[in-house]
Amino acid sequence: MLVYLNGKLVPKEEAKVSVFDHGYLYGDGVFEGIRAYSGRIFRLSEHLRRLYDSARAICLEIPLSMEEMTRVCVETCRANQISDGYIRLVVSRGEGDLGLNPNKAKEPTVVCIADRIQMYPPELTERGLNVITAATRRSYGEVLSPHIKSCNYLPNIMAVIEAINAGAQEAVCMSREGYVAECTGDNVFLVREGVLKTPHPSCGILKGITRNAVLELARGMGIPTEEGLFTRFDLYTADEVFLTGTAAEVVPVTRIDGRIIGDGKPGEMTLRLKQAFSQLVAREGHPIYD
Ligand SMILES: *Cc1c(COP(=O)(O)O)cnc(C)c1O
Repeated sequence: MLVYLNGKLVPKEEAKVSVFDHGYLYGDGVFEGIRAYSGRIFRLSEHLRRLYDSARAICLEIPLSMEEMTRVCVETCRANQISDGYIRLVVSRGEGDLGLNPNKAKEPTVVCIADRIQMYPPELTERGLNVITAATRRSYGEVLSPHIKSCNYLPNIMAVIEAINAGAQEAVCMSREGYVAECTGDNVFLVREGVLKTPHPSCGILKGITRNAVLELARGMGIPTEEGLFTRFDLYTADEVFLTGTAAEVVPVTRIDGRIIGDGKPGEMTLRLKQAFSQLVAREGHPIYD
């Protein structure tokens, strides 16, 4: 495997970053997870837009233009013969001293990894996930804007630990006000009486590109959609629940906090949207090979 690191493609074993990198010391950095399907990178420009917005919000200047970053993604996929895979872009503050001051780090560290991944085994996606609602809240704007896809993932990891301890596969986090926000790396949707519902961006969510694609698909299919405020009660009494994310794609949830959702099987609308999503990713995207 070859990894892109600061301008060079290097063997995985040589892709090393300094222990003084503030990404390592403080989680000071931003990242993206992007998928490629059949030789095309899905919504690459949206992912790059979000990466550059996240970086701007934390005063991190990415030393490459968006065009150059597009090339980095393409070249890293090519170097690893990836047609279907997952691209991880990380831009950290870079090597500084032991203090917090980001200005001591002179050059951001830019990494691109292209690999093959599988989030959940197919049996689990067919059966539907067992999730819990976490005690850990989603970080909110007064602390760190949830719209920033930052490397500071400890709150999400705390919620993952809760899920693991409860024998579940994922955790839904609430906003500070107690409304449903999102899972640890995925957005959440529910279906009730034919309406597709998902928390409003003001609930403290990362505005997922998969979330956006699913909302667009639903609207195109004539499904009524609603972005609003939802509680645990709404999750427990939903006809269907599913999660969306670049890594997870569209994945049904059939159990929440020990309650069976709907009839306990992946829902009909979930499956329709999942199928529409697979058709969408197969037909659009930035080509890797020309
Ligand atoms: C990346 C991420 C998502 C999913 O966003 P996509 O753009 O669909 O991959 C959702 N929530 C959090 C916290 C994330 O980091």
